[in-house]
Amino acid sequence: MNTADRMKSVQPSPTVALGNKVAEMKAAGEDIISFTVGEPDFDTPANIREAAKKALDDGWTHYAPSSGLPKFREVIAASERENGIPCDASNIIVAPTKHTLYMTCTALLNPGDEVIIQDPAWVSYEPCTLINGAKPVFVDSSKTELHFTPESIAEAITPKTKMIIVNTPSNPTGVVMTEAELKGIADLAIDHDLIILADEIYQKILYEGEHHSIASFDGMFERTVTINGLSKAYAMTGWRSGWLISPSHLFGEISKVQQHSITCIPPFIQIAGIEALTNTSAEVSKMREQFRARRDLMHSLINALPNWTCSKPEGAFYLFPKFESDMNSMQVAEKLLTEAKVAVTPGSAFGASVDDHLRFSYAASEEVIREGIRRVGTVGL
Ligand code: GLU
Repeated sequence: MNTADRMKSVQPSPTVALGNKVAEMKAAGEDIISFTVGEPDFDTPANIREAAKKALDDGWTHYAPSSGLPKFREVIAASERENGIPCDASNIIVAPTKHTLYMTCTALLNPGDEVIIQDPAWVSYEPCTLINGAKPVFVDSSKTELHFTPESIAEAITPKTKMIIVNTPSNPTGVVMTEAELKGIADLAIDHDLIILADEIYQKILYEGEHHSIASFDGMFERTVTINGLSKAYAMTGWRSGWLISPSHLFGEISKVQQHSITCIPPFIQIAGIEALTNTSAEVSKMREQFRARRDLMHSLINALPNWTCSKPEGAFYLFPKFESDMNSMQVAEKLLTEAKVAVTPGSAFGASVDDHLRFSYAASEEVIREGIRRVGTVGL
């Protein structure tokens, strides 16, 4: 039986596949240290778990309104206004963050539309574009210190360009985009009548500098869909709780995708989300400071190894070191897994220009980081 042609160019998610493989190896008793999937090792804070348990007992187990519980949407809008995004509850759709990306691409892209994506970028932007028949156009940032610059984006714009995806802080590099870069991209979007999809899921995992939401810039709210969520900063990956912020003229089309796919996310999860956004800031800061200490530790340990160089990014929980070797990133990742039992994600999973990099997630304890990087140092390149 034939499957859809458009799926033939879509690869399985390398981050999900690697996470599954590591889980299987661990279950089989192998002593694997994993720096693969971007998932905090902390427990979800207790107040959030208690709120979910109480919500279950209080009967929040039926359908919620498709775009989300009014109170959760209000609390989200208030938190996003702190980023300068001029939204209110009516602009919010509550959904798993990955699904918000899918919904936005499905509602806004036509076959043949071009979508400008940084190389390297998170693994699901390209598939989301392809699944919807649009064409990803990659902008190599390996020569601009992994920064997605307006100058390089300008060269990639054609009459078919419809959207630019920006992600700050970035997965996989941890790079935080500057205000000037975002302003330059905003000007391009206005000049060429483009949509911006702004992925800000790592917004609260920021160690230096300032986060800027492109939707807060003059004239940008109307042409930006911002996506965010609770997974990373609140250690809530398994709860699948996030949101998008859409201007009202795009909202109806995007919300149809939600109505015809997942309907809503479970209401007891949304009640817990209200608790997360209103009463957990101290816990979020504590986790961020632990991530900072881990970043500094892993950064110094990797830089002390021969053949490895690593910059220190300002956000997210990934390091993206470069290695000197005749091997490519997949070969090095396989060698580390086989010889040192250390799992990392090859740079090639994120883009063709970074096949001499590996992504290390430092969402792991200091003890695990020390042992893991010690093992990496035992493998010859
Ligand atoms: N975003 C995380 C990562 O890059 C989780 C896995 C995924 O959803 O791709 O590892």
